[in-house]
Amino acid sequence: MILVFLGPPGSGKGTQAKKLTAEKGWPQLSTGDMLRTAISSGSKLGLEAKALMDKGDLVPDSVVVSLIEDRIRATDCKDGFILDGFPRTVSQAQSLDQVLQKIEKKVDQVAFFEMDEKELVTRLSGRRTCTECGKMFHVTFGPFHNPESCEKNPLCNIIQRPDDLPEVITKRLQVYHHSTAPVAEFYRAAKKLKTLNAAEKPESVYQALLKLIG
Ligand code: AMP
Repeated sequence: MILVFLGPPGSGKGTQAKKLTAEKGWPQLSTGDMLRTAISSGSKLGLEAKALMDKGDLVPDSVVVSLIEDRIRATDCKDGFILDGFPRTVSQAQSLDQVLQKIEKKVDQVAFFEMDEKELVTRLSGRRTCTECGKMFHVTFGPFHNPESCEKNPLCNIIQRPDDLPEVITKRLQVYHHSTAPVAEFYRAAKKLKTLNAAEKPESVYQALLKLIG
């Protein structure tokens, strides 16, 4: 099963992908996480990506397509995978089709996480991340960080991602409307798009997701 999770930043794609990975074993392929790993390693690619990511801009299509192409050839992807945050442009979606064609595969389903913009801003601006274990927290809605129970304690390092700062959130949403929203139309035309109400509680969204993939 090859799944694409499409939707604005903050709509819960990553959270749902992690749950589905835990249940089905299909790896979560997040280009955002791959780029953050490149940044942590201090590579040239990471440095170039960071400058764009911190401003809320997209990293060039060629960079993310090449990251994904390498990743999906790994053996753990042979029974399927979940693309989280990729494709983000119509050109990336077309490249993905070509890459998959080479290995005689195709996108099976696209889950479109639909959500009101005001709610997205609240979610993103209150989001905090542990740089050590990658766990996400929220200052208003929880889960709240508890140093006592943190697996990586005392290593845990809770930060607000630079791209979750208010002015960058606005930019990311503009970029989403301009570049990523058309990807939904691309998959609607291919009859692969199914819409989820991402504003519901995470467990309800997950149940809807399970139904969607059948
Ligand atoms: P995410 O963690 O998915 O919200 O991604 C964080 C940032 O990484 C985005 O705002 C972009 O700057 C960059 N990024 C992640 N995925 C892509 C992609 N498919 N295409 C271009 N840039 C991306």
